[in-house]
Amino acid sequence: MSYFEITGYPFTDAGIYALESLIRKDYKDITPEDVRTVMMPVARLYETEPWRKCFQSIFTGDSVYTTPHYIFQGKKKFPDDPAKQKQYAAEKSLNDVVNWWNSLIDGFTPAGDRGTCPICGRRDGTMPVKKAHIPLIGTGKLLNFFPSMMESEFVCPVCLLAVQFMPLNLRYVKVRGKAKFLLYHSHSEKLMRIISKQNIKDIRMQITGEATGVVNYNKGETAFNTSSSLFSLLRELAIIPEVYDIKNPSIVVYEFSNYNQNPPPLRIIHISNSVFDFVIHAERTNKQKWMEVVNRGWWKIEDKKKKKFPDYSKWADNIVYENLLNEQSITDMFYSDEKKKVYGSEELLDLYLREVLNMQNIDSAKRISDALVKYSVDKGGKEEIEKKIKELRNVSNLGAFRRFFLDIAEDERRRGKGLSIPYEDFVKVTEDANSWKTMQDRILYALYEALSKFNNASGGEREDN
Ligand SMILES: [Zn+2]
Repeated sequence: MSYFEITGYPFTDAGIYALESLIRKDYKDITPEDVRTVMMPVARLYETEPWRKCFQSIFTGDSVYTTPHYIFQGKKKFPDDPAKQKQYAAEKSLNDVVNWWNSLIDGFTPAGDRGTCPICGRRDGTMPVKKAHIPLIGTGKLLNFFPSMMESEFVCPVCLLAVQFMPLNLRYVKVRGKAKFLLYHSHSEKLMRIISKQNIKDIRMQITGEATGVVNYNKGETAFNTSSSLFSLLRELAIIPEVYDIKNPSIVVYEFSNYNQNPPPLRIIHISNSVFDFVIHAERTNKQKWMEVVNRGWWKIEDKKKKKFPDYSKWADNIVYENLLNEQSITDMFYSDEKKKVYGSEELLDLYLREVLNMQNIDSAKRISDALVKYSVDKGGKEEIEKKIKELRNVSNLGAFRRFFLDIAEDERRRGKGLSIPYEDFVKVTEDANSWKTMQDRILYALYEALSKFNNASGGEREDN
């Protein structure tokens, strides 16, 4: 018999996992009394200035967390001293929050088999809700993101209370100067628990130390933007061994603000399982090489800005991150035509091709790349590699891509050499109209890598002289 059950509704689930991390108990075992024990420190946190500021964009309207409590009609004993008034108001406000939560807990019943609550369906809905209580629910006129949840609909006290702890599991980001919040949702309980633990670590520090608002709030100009925040979380996760065997995390991230706009801004981001696996693996096994690729992706940033905001890796856009999130290829970030060099490593590139782009013929691409490099080096060394890079870069369709290899075969035949490009691999690499461009990038990577070796060797000689 348990009170809390995962519902699939992101705001409730985030609150349940926050409670679980705070209470340090499996959510299925959490009792009403357990909730009462963590209620006071959280309510005190919510009454602080940074949290109240965040709440203005989380709960809309006359929320118990944001409504000023300075007016007390008919209170004859209201103190005259402004400092005392403020203190009185704060106490009144804290009492309002705690009393409300207590009244919800008083109404708790264990989860049953059915009920009218639109969130859990396991108890009857008895509490009328508004956007002041649950973010992003619909109204009569406006179909909001959760259209099945309407204002003035009735939800059960357990679901409603859980949502009140959801802000502990949010991360603050700044999107083009505007405050937004990120909420993570995954079907993997294990992953939700790990993410929640990460967030609650910060909350615990705030409870015992200084209140700083929703996780990552109050970072001024260097606040994270959304994609940097997502990848920074993946970096945090990559050092936690329990993460490595999570299968199908299927993460959905809700970037939202509930600030009085109609409709409120909401962006839904899917982190695909393959991107998750790839980034965790790259961070874990080859972080330095992976950062070479990532660091190529920052939008050009003026030097003076760099000086002003040194940590641009938080707020600037990064094309590697954006492309991974939007399922666009990042293969061309592994080499630079301009600088004639490679970034990352062959292993990392092949991992990306296999895991994220789901390419089947990686081994063929590798064999062909190696054969092409060997052919070029044997024929004319560095100059021939440069020539082949130029030719390959000019290839703009599958037919020309095939001809590129056929010309090499023809050249070898003319010079009485054995065929160096394996025929079977040639067929595999050039058979698919959708993937030949990726193959082109893969082979260019190998050529640029070979070229850098020449350049490094000659650079090294110069240094010796
Ligand atoms: Zn419910």
